[in-house]
Amino acid sequence: MTQMIFDGHNDVLSCLAAGRGEASAFGRALPGQIDGQRARKGGLGGGFFALWPRDEHALDATDPGPEATAYDLPLPPEMLQADALKSVKEQIEIFDQLVAQGDLRLCTAAADLDQESGPLAAILHMEGAEAIRPDLGELDWLYDRGLRSLGLVWSRVNRFGTGVPFRFPSDGDIGPGLSEAGRALVARCNEMRILVDLSHLNAAGIRDVAQISTAPLVATHSNAHAVTPHARNLTDAQLRLMAESGGLAGLNFERSFVRPDGRGDSDVPVEWLLAHLDHLLNHLGEEGVALGSDYDGCDPPDWLTRVENLPLLVQAMERHGYDGARIERICWRNWQRVLRDTWGA
Ligand code: ZN
Repeated sequence: MTQMIFDGHNDVLSCLAAGRGEASAFGRALPGQIDGQRARKGGLGGGFFALWPRDEHALDATDPGPEATAYDLPLPPEMLQADALKSVKEQIEIFDQLVAQGDLRLCTAAADLDQESGPLAAILHMEGAEAIRPDLGELDWLYDRGLRSLGLVWSRVNRFGTGVPFRFPSDGDIGPGLSEAGRALVARCNEMRILVDLSHLNAAGIRDVAQISTAPLVATHSNAHAVTPHARNLTDAQLRLMAESGGLAGLNFERSFVRPDGRGDSDVPVEWLLAHLDHLLNHLGEEGVALGSDYDGCDPPDWLTRVENLPLLVQAMERHGYDGARIERICWRNWQRVLRDTWGA
């Protein structure tokens, strides 16, 4: 039987908003890495669907090219709140359409993950809080629309904090911590029981969230810095803070976050993904590691290009000696565990 997978991050919504495929075709076939048909083949049962305030310049800052061995791509410019809100609204409409079509079902409680079949279980996540004004005015509206997970920043600066650039090698200790508004946003998310995502946040920002937040520290799609010293990955000190909080990290498939040399080359032996999992397990424990593919937002290894390839990763975990219970936790149950601890139900 195919192992079912709940995944910590995909960018299907912003791809559809960019015109890469029609939302009406999700259940059949899309040109990208995830669609309904391929999800069924690969055992994907659900995941975090990101709203990403889209800015055409931003993607230029993410790709070092396959040959680069050291790089420091500049942070893209800040985004205007009105532009970000417009972009997010477009993507929420697409999300609602996918739910109405029966392709997705909105998850707002950990018990929604009891069921592994049927429409994909979808958590509405926002990657970067640019759409929210400093008085946090839009947060209630977003919550009403289903938002239950929020990354304060993507890899750029906003009024709440600073994201890490795509830099290698780097420990992500770049720029200041959270602003006053950023600290207030974390506290408000705690009150509303919205998950606060650490992925893309800089080191000072992560320290601030760790100090303020009363919830488990979660990085939905980030890897181990000890294996690949990329700014987007988590240092051992950060993993310790996360472990103390009962937190979790989701394994990202992006080549340059997985390859120890930080290159964007598609030749990525599975051993390197397993090295990240082993390291994360050592630091975060059996209940602190899951998957966060970044499908439709990253360049995965050539053998893991699309969602139907997920069983190859599961088979590699088996060959590596992970038992069934551990695989089940990494692939599904740990997400449910941390959501229960964060959302309270
Ligand atoms: Zn991301």
